Amino acid sequence: MTTRARNHIKFKHGDLASLREMLLADTSKEHFAVLLGKTQKIDGYTIITVIDMLFPAQSDYNHQSVALLRIKKDFIHQALVEVTSRYDVDTIIDVHTHPFTRGDVAFSGTDDADERTFFRFLKDTFAGLHYASIVFSQHRYSARVWTLSNGAIVARKALLKTQTSPENIASADFREDADERYEKTVVTGGEGFFNRSVLALGLDVMRAIMRDQSISIIGVGGLGSVVAEHLIHMGFHEINLIDPDVLEMSNLNRVVGAYYEDAEQKRAKVDVVKRHLTRINPKATITAYKKDVHEKEVESVLALSDWLIVATDNHSSRLKAQELSVHYFVPLLSLGVNITVKDHKLEDMSGEVITARVGDCLCLQCLQRINPIKVASERHPDQVIREELVKRGYVTGKDIKEPAVKTLNTAVATMAVDMLINQYTGARKHVPVLVYENNGHMCIYEDRESVQQRNKRCFLCNI
Ligand SMILES: [Zn+2]
Ligand SMILES: [Zn+2]
Repeated sequence: MTTRARNHIKFKHGDLASLREMLLADTSKEHFAVLLGKTQKIDGYTIITVIDMLFPAQSDYNHQSVALLRIKKDFIHQALVEVTSRYDVDTIIDVHTHPFTRGDVAFSGTDDADERTFFRFLKDTFAGLHYASIVFSQHRYSARVWTLSNGAIVARKALLKTQTSPENIASADFREDADERYEKTVVTGGEGFFNRSVLALGLDVMRAIMRDQSISIIGVGGLGSVVAEHLIHMGFHEINLIDPDVLEMSNLNRVVGAYYEDAEQKRAKVDVVKRHLTRINPKATITAYKKDVHEKEVESVLALSDWLIVATDNHSSRLKAQELSVHYFVPLLSLGVNITVKDHKLEDMSGEVITARVGDCLCLQCLQRINPIKVASERHPDQVIREELVKRGYVTGKDIKEPAVKTLNTAVATMAVDMLINQYTGARKHVPVLVYENNGHMCIYEDRESVQQRNKRCFLCNI
């Protein structure tokens, strides 16, 4: 496992690719851009989310050659006016290219001196502004976050993070130091654990999946436990399981890895599923959090994940997960199933998978997948109001058991993990909402209508 960098600069979907395209289209000269971001500190990590990108016009350059760049003060001044007058940004990230380098890249002595001077100026002039910088070669980058440590100016190396792994490029500073011996036995070895997966997905995809990808599953019941089992079989090595509930007898018809005895002992679902995954692959790091997604400790786990998978039917935890996804730029996959039975007749058996990457401008909120009355009945601080909503029949109570069968769950969980794998392979077209229906006949189709009819001025994901 790679030792994790403590500073992350995170991009919306497509932004890093378009930034590089803009700056590296012409490799005869150095190019420059200013990014506006938001700095957040959590659990010893600094996460900068890139909100906007500003590109200078040709007239904004004083001097521009293969190894030198001078930007007019006006352009920098305008960026400073913008960052200080807006509520959603507090960070300047300056970006330039070393177009003459193809591979590894490092900041030059001139870069160091210029940035140090600029950082000192920022600290002396504005309160609460943050500063970071990125330099691109043709294929790699070096990035850093400037900070004060005991009064001294220091630059700390940073990692760039994109929504999907194919969009990302390699850092010149952080090596992917995979345990080669381990990789030989489980991936490339003829009898290895993932030998057959490599045959199907290719070595590069398997490496991307197995190396420092951290996936968090919220809700490990009938859907989440199947997702978890799929992930471990597909080669993911770092999985966080989040669920406050204990196993009940009525869960045994669908929770993967759960035994009769676990229900008798009322064991935590996360512990039962963790045991199952660890038995399949003892080398994987599985962490069980018997916690609600609203708890503070869970926030940093989710903020530092590469994907959030939401597999709970609880609307308030779905909303919370979606909020954290947008806040920390972590892409989200959501699963849902529905079985409607009326007068002993099965009226609907269906499910769906929603993929919401930050920057896609769609989320559970604007797709109307979150019912505000359900959120209130689950989370309203006043118990009387919560009970009243149930009593009046606006929502079904927590104690009402919804119908559930494993075959529906596994079909939808399989679709979800396939959608996730497709984010690494890019083999198929991206489908934001994929529906499974088993009414009359079985079919899987893309739900374009919900996407078209979503609220395009969504307060949550429109950033
Ligand atoms: Zn430079
Ligand atoms: Zn939205």
